[in-house]
Amino acid sequence: MAGVSIRKVVKVYEGKFQAVKAIDLEVAEDEFVVLVGPSGCGKSTTLRMVAGLEEISAGEIWIGDKLVNDVLPRERDIAMVFQNYALYPHMSVYDNMAFGLQQRKYPREEIQKRVQHAAGILDITALLDRKPKALSGGQRQRVAMGRAIVRNPKVFLFDEPLSNLDAKLRVQMRTEIKKLHQTIATTTLYVTHDQVEAMTLADRVVVMNAGRIEQVGAPQELYHHP
Ligand code: ADP
Ligand code: ADP
Repeated sequence: MAGVSIRKVVKVYEGKFQAVKAIDLEVAEDEFVVLVGPSGCGKSTTLRMVAGLEEISAGEIWIGDKLVNDVLPRERDIAMVFQNYALYPHMSVYDNMAFGLQQRKYPREEIQKRVQHAAGILDITALLDRKPKALSGGQRQRVAMGRAIVRNPKVFLFDEPLSNLDAKLRVQMRTEIKKLHQTIATTTLYVTHDQVEAMTLADRVVVMNAGRIEQVGAPQELYHHP
């Protein structure tokens, strides 16, 4: 079983401040779950704990049938997309997408196949030889997603991926991310402070506030109250 299971997870920063307060969340296989809530409520901390980029203070995180509390980020079956793209400026788009696979010693042919396939899905095949500085913001974000896709992860983690884009591009990329999920159907945990984004993308929305989960439901359940 894939999916993500967050069980009584606590994050205490610097031994005093509880940023995440014993939350429970089950993300089903292939489900698209959006964590939404005001700045500072613990969304990003939660995501980073799933990624292994923050240690958890208490509780358990499972990815599929594996308890990952002590598993290094690169050994978790996840890929993460950040708002700042985190592309390598001196490498071409192709090399940016291939890099993680090269590090893991995938065969050259397999790498080519995966990069071409992901580039096709994201409509960036014509950009593969360019450097990041020759790309628009939206194109860079597509490359960042391509880097995640080529890994074939069990779980996608998105941390405010659209917040550096202008309003028009945000709407366009929202549609593309939704399409992407329909195409590759991978368990997705997505963080945003934007309610419209949450509503458009999510199978289920998780509303966080002050380190706790306040509400969980389908978008129409949460946002259609009088
Ligand atoms: P969100 O993603 O919802 O904006 P975060 O998870 O980034 O919230 O932050 C939750 C709380 O934890 C905030 O009060 C934030 O200031 C605090 N915090 C985040 N990272 C650290 C850190 N490395 N050290 C101390 N406090 C932190
Ligand atoms: P790549 O994403 O290029 O394959 P790594 O294999 O070194 O890079 O990634 C190891 C882990 O670190 C992965 O789980 C990935 O999600 C995470 N990671 C990748 N880029 C960053 C970054 N800029 N900051 C923090 N963590 C990252």
